[in-house]
Amino acid sequence: MNRHVVIIGGGFGGLEAAFSLKELLPSACTVTLVDRNAFHFFIPSIHEIVSGKTSAESIRIPFAAMLGPTGIRFVQDEMLALDRESREVRCRNTTLQYDYLVLGAGAENNFFGIAGAEEFSYCFRRPDDAEGIRNEVMRLLEDPVEPCHIVLAGGGTEGVETAGELLDLIKKEGREDDLKSGLVSIDLIEGRERLLTTFPAKAQDIAEQYLRDRGVNVLTRHAIVEVRNNAVLLDTGERRHAAVLVWTGGIQPPAMIRTLPLQKDRHGWLLVTDRLHSPDDDRIYGIGDAVSISGAEGPLPLQRLAHHAQDQARVAALNIANQLEGRDLVAYSPKNKPQLISLGREMGIFAQEGRVLSGPWVVVLKKAVERKYLMACLSRPVSSALGARIPGAGFVRRLRMRLFR
Ligand SMILES: Cc1cc2nc3c(=O)[nH]c(=O)nc-3n(C[C@H](O)[C@H](O)[C@H](O)COP(=O)(O)OP(=O)(O)OC[C@H]3O[C@@H](n4cnc5c(N)ncnc54)[C@H](O)[C@@H]3O)c2cc1C
Repeated sequence: MNRHVVIIGGGFGGLEAAFSLKELLPSACTVTLVDRNAFHFFIPSIHEIVSGKTSAESIRIPFAAMLGPTGIRFVQDEMLALDRESREVRCRNTTLQYDYLVLGAGAENNFFGIAGAEEFSYCFRRPDDAEGIRNEVMRLLEDPVEPCHIVLAGGGTEGVETAGELLDLIKKEGREDDLKSGLVSIDLIEGRERLLTTFPAKAQDIAEQYLRDRGVNVLTRHAIVEVRNNAVLLDTGERRHAAVLVWTGGIQPPAMIRTLPLQKDRHGWLLVTDRLHSPDDDRIYGIGDAVSISGAEGPLPLQRLAHHAQDQARVAALNIANQLEGRDLVAYSPKNKPQLISLGREMGIFAQEGRVLSGPWVVVLKKAVERKYLMACLSRPVSSALGARIPGAGFVRRLRMRLFR
């Protein structure tokens, strides 16, 4: 009997789950991918839109073009609710019946209830957010007398990488001297002791020193307590000008996930077992940023990263195939891969398990990873469609995934 798998979210996790399922079970299941957007975004490069090195168009790929050749159905819609009794996903415009459901809805900005934060800041999660920031910064930089005060709220990867891109943009526009005089400024505000708290100390030192040396005001151990039009107030009582405020500080589970009739952890992330299905329902899988995984020894301490979302997607797809074929489910175990950060065109940081390297070559490497990913997005539909026509391809794929998961 042909089963229907519905996947919510076409980000790194959801897209990988769709391709993997189609490759594992070419004819045994129908796959529908639902996303509220018409495009898949390569989010890790959106900071480069701010400096103009990358355009929004070059990192967004239409789902229709990608999924068309594979037989994966795409529905542009927004999931609002779930009815577990009738196995139905309620979307804004349609209702979908599922046999298996994969939730890969990602995360959304967390403004931590700070007054004015949502109203007066730019989010930083989509290419058009980055385009809006670039347009506003350019408008200010093109006027030689108007002050251009930029505040980045949050000194994690997004804040640090955006600071690097803004430095490149200011240099390109010939406004470096104004960075010294204070007519142009970049404040990078972080509540914790250091920037890049999830990285080794050496990476933190490199980033802080590099940005400070080039004129960024790195304010660690400073918290924003209120945001007003054109200003932020800090916990020290200080008021900083903010003609452009970019919110790079923290994420939370999407509101839709928080309302589902399924177990969540204490922060509202969807709880899944190490087999990646909900403890309440083994036909509902969760992957990527939206989930918290509870392993045999408690919650897995995982950063929310693209490669984890993809690995989880492959395990979830494999487990759906295992369930359909009456096999045991396999456990997900995280793999550590290097993390690459760019601080503009001249400096990058490579970090893996305590090892830290830096230099412009990291920026080149990061670009190569992006190109490889985008090329795979374009070529994979063709290889998936071909694979589906070759007898035994699903079996080989399954064997490979079992062995190299
Ligand atoms: C600025 C930035 C830079 C980053 N840089 C890196 C990096 O360098 N390296 C790295 O590994 N990770 C990076 N990350 C993290 C990485 O992007 C995430 O870990 C990854 O995108 C998670 O994949 P996902 O599939 O869980 O969610 P996402 O990729 O966020 O995808 C979620 C999808 O679900 C859709 N969706 C959400 N709710 C609904 C709904 N109700 N109905 C229908 N569709 C819905 C969204 O439209 C979206 O397409 C970065 C993140 C940001 C914001």
